Amino acid sequence: MGTPKAQNDTHFLVGHGYDLHRLEFHAPGGPARPLVLGGVKFPHNRGPVAHSDGDALYHAVTDAILGALGQPDIGQLFPDTDPRHEAQDSAVFVGEAVKRMKDLGWRVGNMDATVILETAKVGPVKSQMRANLARLLEVPESRVNVKGKTHEGVDAVGEGRAVEVHAVVVLVRG
Ligand SMILES: [Zn+2]
Repeated sequence: MGTPKAQNDTHFLVGHGYDLHRLEFHAPGGPARPLVLGGVKFPHNRGPVAHSDGDALYHAVTDAILGALGQPDIGQLFPDTDPRHEAQDSAVFVGEAVKRMKDLGWRVGNMDATVILETAKVGPVKSQMRANLARLLEVPESRVNVKGKTHEGVDAVGEGRAVEVHAVVVLVRG
């Protein structure tokens, strides 16, 4: 499959991805899953309410790539009504976005993400998140960045009731 003509008129593409998952206390039979971000499990008394594994970092990165390509977003490609995606490892979603990117003749230049989480520290696992993302995005770790922030106690994210992620990606000719 050749590169569509419409994509030959620029040297790079920028994509933005955003995701938020509600965090609920763990309870027997409750809605929460273990908290996973960037493929790294966090010991936490709350977890995301999600159909898949609820990895908000992988979801934001997937949407950033799909957005840069002008493709349907993660919710359209992987509807949460599809039983195949129940508790799905979200690395699969990133992999599908990367496959579409490569098919269209692009590769990742760099990716930068901010994880906003009040009650667990991203710092100690940042290098593991970067390693996971670098492997999935097929780039050196130096081209992948993850920053952790709190929400200063403000609003639902600040009260620990949600995790929020922003991601920006630049795609260059593959
Ligand atoms: Zn999500």
